[in-house]
Amino acid sequence: MHYEVICTSCKRTFKLSEGEEQYKQYKERKSHLFYCENCKHKIRFDAIRNFFRNY
Ligand SMILES: [Zn+2]
Repeated sequence: MHYEVICTSCKRTFKLSEGEEQYKQYKERKSHLFYCENCKHKIRFDAIRNFFRNY
């Protein structure tokens, strides 16, 4: 069981598999913003970079 959603960042369709955090959010309609694996890594990297830039 999985859902197909569109990545908020790169607009590509990707699958949310059961058990993933985003799958739960989609199912419970807690979030409308979803990120594919590539963009998640990129966002995490940017967040870490911004974190260090502030110090
Ligand atoms: Zn993406």
